[in-house]
Amino acid sequence: MSSQCVKVVKFGGTSLADAKQLLKAKAIIEAEPERRYVVPSAPGKRFANDIKVTDMLYECYRLASEGENFSQEFGLIKERYNSIIADLGIDLDLSEDFEKIEGAFMYHAGSDYAASRGEYLNGKIMAKLLGYDFLDAAKVIKFYDNGTFDAEKTNIILSDRLTRHERAVIPGFYGSMPNGTIKTFARGGSDITGSIVARAVSATIYENWTDVSGFLMADPRLVKEPCPIDTITYRELRELSYMGAGVLHEDSIFPVRFAGIPINIRNTNDPAARGTMIVPTTEEFDTEKVITGIAGKKGFSVLNIEKDKMNAEIGFGRKVLEAIEDEGVTFEHLPSGIDTMSVVLSADLTKKQRKKIVSSISASCEPDDIGFEDGFALIAVVGRGMQRAKGTAARVFKAVADADINVRMIDQGSSEVSIILGINEKDFEKCINAIYDEFVK
Ligand code: ASP
Repeated sequence: MSSQCVKVVKFGGTSLADAKQLLKAKAIIEAEPERRYVVPSAPGKRFANDIKVTDMLYECYRLASEGENFSQEFGLIKERYNSIIADLGIDLDLSEDFEKIEGAFMYHAGSDYAASRGEYLNGKIMAKLLGYDFLDAAKVIKFYDNGTFDAEKTNIILSDRLTRHERAVIPGFYGSMPNGTIKTFARGGSDITGSIVARAVSATIYENWTDVSGFLMADPRLVKEPCPIDTITYRELRELSYMGAGVLHEDSIFPVRFAGIPINIRNTNDPAARGTMIVPTTEEFDTEKVITGIAGKKGFSVLNIEKDKMNAEIGFGRKVLEAIEDEGVTFEHLPSGIDTMSVVLSADLTKKQRKKIVSSISASCEPDDIGFEDGFALIAVVGRGMQRAKGTAARVFKAVADADINVRMIDQGSSEVSIILGINEKDFEKCINAIYDEFVK
């Protein structure tokens, strides 16, 4: 299949929220015959206060599982699909499916099953609208018993199955466990399905159609009209999405990255826009801008540990990390000096966890001083251009200092695609803007 040009196209919820949006998706698919495999989400929001079908399904199932009457909520879901079908004027009757789903709700088929029906039903509509085959994701996307995704088994089954379908719609978001039970990915998981399908057919490209024209260099809620990102590498994207730059589900990077397939983020409402290309590697970078994007997150705590001659003590770091591990907590960053070590953790630790971590480290490491500090924000300045452009760090720190912001932690990975700053939460917005202005304006 790889010798041919094959495109996998995934459409998000807002791209398929009603008949008008579905017709836009159809026009996009039909504009290029290479767009052979389609992964739909469930219908999303049509307007700001609308409710996504997935959320309606979760709510409906909650009522059913609590033994309450859910017919009104289920009626609204049926109405949503029936009006799409009527507005499209296609010859499709989903009443048998509705009956089956309603029955399964009564027998408590599980909230994953419930949520997955949003994509399942929308997949059936898409397949009918396009004249493509419908392939139930439960048959081809496989999970282990413990609920984690079975990438290799899926790839074998899916690539084999898709050789038999010239064109197909595979609903996003779910698959099945070895016993046949439906299992979903995390919210927003249709992105992951799209990536898995792209890998299975060795796609030339994975197009992810959404409601924005790609990634922006910074969060538009913080920076006024940030520039779009033309091209970004997987590694850079990992750094930005870790800090909360949304648009694409973080886990959807892995299947295609593994296979070296680029992802193109596109806008269903503006198909002429080029969007953002996410590529394995590229030589291209803007010598002026140097950085690709800036992202950040609030809500971190720092555990500061001090001890004279810490650097000479064998096993110190291990004991610290063991105390954190014993509480089932992951650490985010670990900047250290000769006599100090700081561990950056998510601030949602419970009081009990904090107490246990401190007492365990006090007992095993006998530090001179130990304590938590809250109200920490992290900012990632990301750019492959940093590897070649001298003075990037100097520019970042000068911009931050000129804005009168105190930098409390610095971490630059050896891959040299990012510089991470730790600052006070209150300086968050000012800091992002200061760095953005330095590199972009
Ligand atoms: N419909 C699911 C959700 O709302 C999955 C998706 O749209 O990607 O999370």
